[in-house]
Amino acid sequence: MVMGEFTQETDLLVIGGGPGGYAAAFRAADLGMDVTMVEMDPRPGGVCLFRGCIPSKTLLYVTELMHDARRSSEMGLTFAEPKIDIDRLRAWKDTVIDKLANGLVELTRKRGVLFIQGKAVLEDSSHARVQNTGSSHIRFKHAIIATGSSTRAPDGVQFKPGGRIMDSTGALELADIPKRLLVVGGGFVGLETGSVYASLGSKTVLVEYNGRIMSGIDQDLTRPLLTRLEALFESIHLNTNVTSLVEDESGVNVTFSGEIEEKNQRFDRVLIAVGRVPNSEGIGLENTKVKLNERGFIIVDQQRRTTDEKIFAVGDVAGGAMLAHKSMHEGKVAAEVISGMPSAFDFQAIPAVVYTDPQIAVCGLSEEAARKRGRNVKVTRFPWSASGRAVSMGVGGMTKMIIDPDSQRVLGLGIVGRDAGEMISEGVMAIEMGALAEDLALSIHPHPTLSEAEEEAAEAFLGSSTHILPQKK
Ligand code: FAD
Repeated sequence: MVMGEFTQETDLLVIGGGPGGYAAAFRAADLGMDVTMVEMDPRPGGVCLFRGCIPSKTLLYVTELMHDARRSSEMGLTFAEPKIDIDRLRAWKDTVIDKLANGLVELTRKRGVLFIQGKAVLEDSSHARVQNTGSSHIRFKHAIIATGSSTRAPDGVQFKPGGRIMDSTGALELADIPKRLLVVGGGFVGLETGSVYASLGSKTVLVEYNGRIMSGIDQDLTRPLLTRLEALFESIHLNTNVTSLVEDESGVNVTFSGEIEEKNQRFDRVLIAVGRVPNSEGIGLENTKVKLNERGFIIVDQQRRTTDEKIFAVGDVAGGAMLAHKSMHEGKVAAEVISGMPSAFDFQAIPAVVYTDPQIAVCGLSEEAARKRGRNVKVTRFPWSASGRAVSMGVGGMTKMIIDPDSQRVLGLGIVGRDAGEMISEGVMAIEMGALAEDLALSIHPHPTLSEAEEEAAEAFLGSSTHILPQKK
């Protein structure tokens, strides 16, 4: 502490104002704590709101509209070819972000959470200093670290603002529509952002180091997406790696190794989407008892307490699924534990959604994971070709359910198709409540809806599906 300096006191210091941080701050304030939230951005929202979930989904929705307008001609409704006004599109995206960010500012203010813009660095287990601001030395009773994650940059690659080699943040700024775009990485960020640019007109090439896209999701769910992207993109190359990237004023020269014929190619822009790393450096953890694992994530227990008893960590920086909804739940758990409630982060099914066209949504146990663990499961599939709603909308898809054959409990759900993300929560609910296939089968779903596929997948297990034949015994 500097002599004569004012030290502000707070019950709870939340470092980082992303979904994990603001959910924690809001819950703690609702529980009666005096809360200070320090965030480097001018407003709360984090990566999700400003550089992730929201801008990407806003753009993906626009491309879905374009796709629908194009395919509607087969239904007898012909629109003119969509004209893309990139400035208005960018402005629309920014308006969406703005509305939501202002909402969060209001919620922060109305809950009496003190918001300080700046970078917080821990000095010890009960003090932090906020850099880039006139104030602030803070003494806290507890702290929650919610500093999130940043794009992993491959060796030798630097993301310069406005540069042609972009991370997802640069790509979502939508500076222009490059004629030819290389996407490195076949995970959800690469596939979603690549889909946006390909739909807007960029000739898009995707390379993926592994032999499959979206590793971790069953291949019968990813295959329809791969087929669709093979048509939308210029090309997709699996088992392929980038060996060098050289940027000049008008483009980027790229060399490849692996299963790609042309080993030297030129692109207007490159998007690197090969994963994210935790923001656990430069925040003063060395001055506390907080420990990191070998990958730099903060080690936490089920209550999201770190190895320093006064300090908790939530969200991307604490590892596990790097998803906004998981961060928010963790934030609430940490706030409740600090306020003395017996909460724990103890979930069976964290849903994950890929917002491409078709969408993929999964929760709980996957078929591949079950097989790897040698667990005996029964898998049922309901093809959307048998769904009245899907056929009337002209969309394809499939819903699969992973069921324990003995207890008949639903263990996992996977959906590929339109609005999969809107439907996965039924699976989450079923798994969390220990529902049996029969519970879903006997819950009357409205007809005709895409959600009926979940009822029919459960019925398929019981041999009582109406629209698919019973499996031969
Ligand atoms: P973050 O959102 O990363 O927020 C951390 C905040 O901490 C940042 O605002 C940062 O400025 C601040 N900060 C860092 N260090 C300090 C410090 N020392 N002092 C003060 N402030 C600090 N997830 C989904 O669930 N659904 C999606 O559709 C989805 N789409 C995505 C699309 C993209 C392109 C990307 C990149 C991510 C996407 N994610 C999505 C992931 C999601 O954004 C993250 O899981 C989520 O934002 C993590 O929340 P968090 O609170 O842990 O951290």
